[in-house]
Amino acid sequence: MDIKSLLCTKTDCECGNIHSCDIENVIIGKNAIKRLTDEDICGKYDRILLICDSNTYKAAGERVQALLGDKVESLLIYESEGFLVPNEESVEIAESRLTDKTQLIVGVGSGVINDICKYVSFGKGLPYYIVATAPSMDGYASKGAAMLMSGMKITYNTHVPKCIIGDTDVLRNAPLEMIKSGYGDIIGKFSCLNDWRLSSVVNGEPVCEYIYKLTYDTALGMSKMGKAVISRTEESIEYLMNALVIVGIAMAYMGNSRPASGSEHHLSHYFEVVGLLRNEPYFCHGTDVAYSMYEVQRMREKILALPSPKAKKFDREVWEKDIRRIYGTSADEVVKLQEKLGWIYEDKLPVYTEKWEEIKKVLSETPSLSETEKMLSDALLPLDDFYKMYNSEKLADAQNYAKELKDRYTVLWLYSALEI
Ligand SMILES: [Zn+2]
Ligand SMILES: [Zn+2]
Repeated sequence: MDIKSLLCTKTDCECGNIHSCDIENVIIGKNAIKRLTDEDICGKYDRILLICDSNTYKAAGERVQALLGDKVESLLIYESEGFLVPNEESVEIAESRLTDKTQLIVGVGSGVINDICKYVSFGKGLPYYIVATAPSMDGYASKGAAMLMSGMKITYNTHVPKCIIGDTDVLRNAPLEMIKSGYGDIIGKFSCLNDWRLSSVVNGEPVCEYIYKLTYDTALGMSKMGKAVISRTEESIEYLMNALVIVGIAMAYMGNSRPASGSEHHLSHYFEVVGLLRNEPYFCHGTDVAYSMYEVQRMREKILALPSPKAKKFDREVWEKDIRRIYGTSADEVVKLQEKLGWIYEDKLPVYTEKWEEIKKVLSETPSLSETEKMLSDALLPLDDFYKMYNSEKLADAQNYAKELKDRYTVLWLYSALEI
């Protein structure tokens, strides 16, 4: 995989759009951390805010601090007892460490640290670098900062890091749960790409075939490496980190997360949001994504078994009652978003009927249930764990109401519009 070639602006795409990504450097491999001291990486910066948590400081932060020496103006180590949450408080702590002379933020960590650094640096108009400590999710190269503000998961459109460092020696030593999560986030792309295709048939949403193929091929390569990533082979961990960055670039190219997040992500967000609201457990992001891909595949196959589409009656009162039961204190925002969108009132049956054969063709293109289960079991993600974590009521709520968290058309909208 040649990431460098993806960092240029692509002006000749057949979709007619110009695709660009503002990342200047991606360095993945053995001893990648050492490259931080290169003249073209940190040479021009003398006042750096270094952000870690107590685990990532031990994993790589300490080494980064030693390499950067006097250039580190301030070192912030979040005490990560329990989970560090990307919320108002964490943002405030980071902002309080900035001076008007700070030139660069360097984050050492994975999902949450990356989101906080992305959000804070964007807000302050500063560049940021990320030194990855785990190949756990695809947000390293994306513009989206997934924050948890007022208890709601909100993805802000911010900016990409100027530099991503993925040192394979550090990444291979990440907790296995995080490696599985990264793998899950990548294989989940089979599902979201299919949602994109479905939306193109149903809503005429444009698909960029170049970005589609870039993401699809990346997921396809990953799907054959489940066993290798569990063994933490150098080659597979390097592939995984590259894959996570490439998918991030695909999102940057697109200007949104369409190539990388669909129904499987909406389910995973639902498990996370509801888990936080009710103080119930949930899996790491990508693990939830991988399991959710299986769950959504079950839904796709139920739709495929229908001889023809029949509309389910929508009852606004029942809907709101369910939303309030499920989302509790966050329900107002969910209702507001959907009222604004108005999709709950739309009758798409004429489109579904007219395009039924085309819809079925698209839905049959994803990996089957048994293929999906194999991808999961290769990476030690047994389905039993998933069904033990979430009971049937929670899963049914996810199938029916996870889509309301977002403003993106996926197979979840088709599923809940039909009598199944
Ligand atoms: Zn394109
Ligand atoms: Zn993801």
